[in-house]
Amino acid sequence: MIQVTKPFMPPLDEYISYVKDIWSRQWLTNNGPLVNHLELRLKEYLNVKHMVFVNNGTIALQMAIKALGLEGEVITTPFSFVATTSTLVWEGCRPVFVDVDPTTLNIDPDKIEQAITSKTTGILATHVYGNPCDIDKIQAIAEKHHLKVIYDAAHCFGTLYKGQSVFNYGDISTLSLHATKVFHTIEGGAIFSSSAELLRKIAYIRNFGFSNVDEISELGINGKNSEFHAAMGLANLPYIDEINQYRKELYTYYDEKLSSLAISKIKINSDSSFNFAYYPIIFDSEEGLLKSLNELNLNRIYPRRYFYPSLATLPYLDTYETPITNDIAKRVMCLPLYHGLSFEEVDFVCRILLRVQNN
Ligand SMILES: *Cc1c(COP(=O)(O)O)cnc(C)c1O
Repeated sequence: MIQVTKPFMPPLDEYISYVKDIWSRQWLTNNGPLVNHLELRLKEYLNVKHMVFVNNGTIALQMAIKALGLEGEVITTPFSFVATTSTLVWEGCRPVFVDVDPTTLNIDPDKIEQAITSKTTGILATHVYGNPCDIDKIQAIAEKHHLKVIYDAAHCFGTLYKGQSVFNYGDISTLSLHATKVFHTIEGGAIFSSSAELLRKIAYIRNFGFSNVDEISELGINGKNSEFHAAMGLANLPYIDEINQYRKELYTYYDEKLSSLAISKIKINSDSSFNFAYYPIIFDSEEGLLKSLNELNLNRIYPRRYFYPSLATLPYLDTYETPITNDIAKRVMCLPLYHGLSFEEVDFVCRILLRVQNN
């Protein structure tokens, strides 16, 4: 069986050696030493000034929305994971969908301005598949209209934009460190901002709003993560360069093998250094996708329709006209791509795709 992804597992003894330390300290959570250590190591590795480690990428988005005081309408993308939209609704904001650029599947900046009203307070955009949005255009619009910008950068571990971490852009960027992502802490997430003051506020929000043992200065939530999760991150981190290198090789191998397949691929932002987080392919029709998916499943290969369905079709929202997303979400899927995947397995996947096409 070949799944769309499998989590990287570090050598067990390396994880256990962290666990032994946790046992002897009896400090399991609440900003423990491994959480602090992981935050330091990740800031170094990603070359960012400020970040806090939280318990998942969804809470990271909620805390970002809260910390920036977003309310009223927030412009966002219908082509993302459901958490990008559900967190806005959960925080009492009204998501206003702006359709995507059909070549990148990121929010189309040229359609943002016409969606801005007197109630708009921010923009929440996703760097889809780890490929950065048109950050400069979005920033210019935000400045002109005094809007805050949050990037759902859940897919972006290691992505660079104009030579620096993509997490340095926008008022806040959020990351998911879930087991299915490029780098993981089992469950986990992170929040980045270049403002030290904002990050301090977020650190209070993460801990119920406590700014001191007996002083509460913010409306907070429990966004803390545990020593065990930090240990997984610390055990995984030494392998991340090797993981990224191998993903890139698999990605290039797919490119070669599928060069004669009648599909289209996303356009990677030329200002970025891509992290090869996903291998999405876009079929000409939903029928073509379903035919290939069915044949792959018969061979116990399970790619994922990602993202599907369009968030503009969520049952708890008003209806929106986002024809590009509604169309492409039906025709796109992500092929298996993970560290333990072999070249032979990629061959197998590609042979089936080509066979379906040529039948
Ligand atoms: C994974 C993901 C999330 C949610 O992250 P969790 O850590 O699973 O809560 C949010 N947005 C996007 C785009 C994601 O892919």
